[in-house]
Amino acid sequence: MNISIIGTGYVGLVTGACFAKLGHHITCVDIDPEKVQKITNGISPIYEEGLDTLLALSKDKITATMDYHSALMNTDITFLCVGTPSMKDGSLDLSYLKEATKQIATILKQKKTWHCVVIKSTVLPGTTKDIVLPLLEQHAGKKVGTDIGLAMNPEFLKEGVAIQDFLQPDRIVIGYYDDRSKTALRELYKDFPCPILETSLSAAEMIKYASNTFLATKISFINEIGNLCKKLNIDTYTVAEGMGLDKRIGRAFLDSGIGWGGSCFPKDVDAFIAWANKNKEPPRIIESANLVNTCQPLRLVTILQKHIPHLKGKTIGILGLAFKPDTDDTRESRAIPIVRELLKKGARIKAYDPQAMGNFKTLFPTIDYCDSAAEVLTADAILITTKWKEFTTLDYSGKIVIDGRRIAQAKNAKIYEGVCW
Ligand code: NAD
Repeated sequence: MNISIIGTGYVGLVTGACFAKLGHHITCVDIDPEKVQKITNGISPIYEEGLDTLLALSKDKITATMDYHSALMNTDITFLCVGTPSMKDGSLDLSYLKEATKQIATILKQKKTWHCVVIKSTVLPGTTKDIVLPLLEQHAGKKVGTDIGLAMNPEFLKEGVAIQDFLQPDRIVIGYYDDRSKTALRELYKDFPCPILETSLSAAEMIKYASNTFLATKISFINEIGNLCKKLNIDTYTVAEGMGLDKRIGRAFLDSGIGWGGSCFPKDVDAFIAWANKNKEPPRIIESANLVNTCQPLRLVTILQKHIPHLKGKTIGILGLAFKPDTDDTRESRAIPIVRELLKKGARIKAYDPQAMGNFKTLFPTIDYCDSAAEVLTADAILITTKWKEFTTLDYSGKIVIDGRRIAQAKNAKIYEGVCW
């Protein structure tokens, strides 16, 4: 198939590269000229394991442009993958989605053949039908359902293992407005080795939010259990193992630590809370999960102050700035509130991350960035904030280490404390 992807960030580029690997012809559209240039040169503008290789292998099947016209005229399906960040009150900023939809519609006005528009960005239930559909009809002057197809196909990939998640998903959800779009997406996904669930547009949107808020709650739940376990000297990870062996619970997302960050959970949880409250159904469980997550990273600093009460003038090493390993993404990284708190208390920061220092520098330009993890170990105390593999082979002996991510090797430190174990 000929497919265009609008918005080539983490989701869009992975989607494009994976469909290209499966033999489809992809046109990537982005408003960022630097991204377009890099993709054109077969280089990934983001760090994601295997993406560079996939782009290089599929060079003849992927083109990138800023021009909606050529992209839409030469393709049959368009995936909308622009960002849907949160606003100050937690609600979603739909300006990128609306702008991209208008641009798509303006081109579809001139197009003679049927075209399917698929929303892949995470949007709240009702958005595709109540916001995207009318915009498409208004700016294309055509009827959605006959001249234009519309579907909602949420993405569940995890950064760091995004390619594997995309190609071997647990399930694919196709929310559809019209039968022709359902058939087109069924055909596109027919060889994927997983169940395919066909739903209404809003059920697809809700499945994405219900999944993410549930997983976020699972993490906060084990963190709350962990905080109690630490007080009682019980190993939280043994508890998680015991719980996880129960098939009704499962072991995934029971790694206690300093909480969730990233581009999805924080904004999806905030947006869901704001939306549920607007619908006069306060989401009490999810609100509590969110509160636990706000408090959890600062526990690392509280524990640190048991060993170094006055942080003013002390050098504190931060191992890990990405919100999770194997990505350069620092959005809502748990290292952010920790560094902010340490700076507030007058500490000096020495930080290292294998991939995310560039992104972190835009937030904290003046802290010290080290060339290696070993350099961070010269600090007065070390906080482990991301579970990068290379942190498992460091020599922590003689150090004060407060661990937010459960690195077994760090237990060799002179003083070692886990955040909630
Ligand atoms: P991102 O910020 O990495 O990428 C968005 C891209 O869209 C950027 O490259 C930006 O330049 C481009 N863009 C913005 N406006 C545009 C326009 N009018 N036309 C063309 N391009 C435009 O975002 P992301 O992390 O890929 O997330 C995209 C969506 O997918 C969000 O709704 C997010 O919630 C959802 N999602 C993300 C993940 C994830 O792990 N990152 C997983 C599942 C779902």
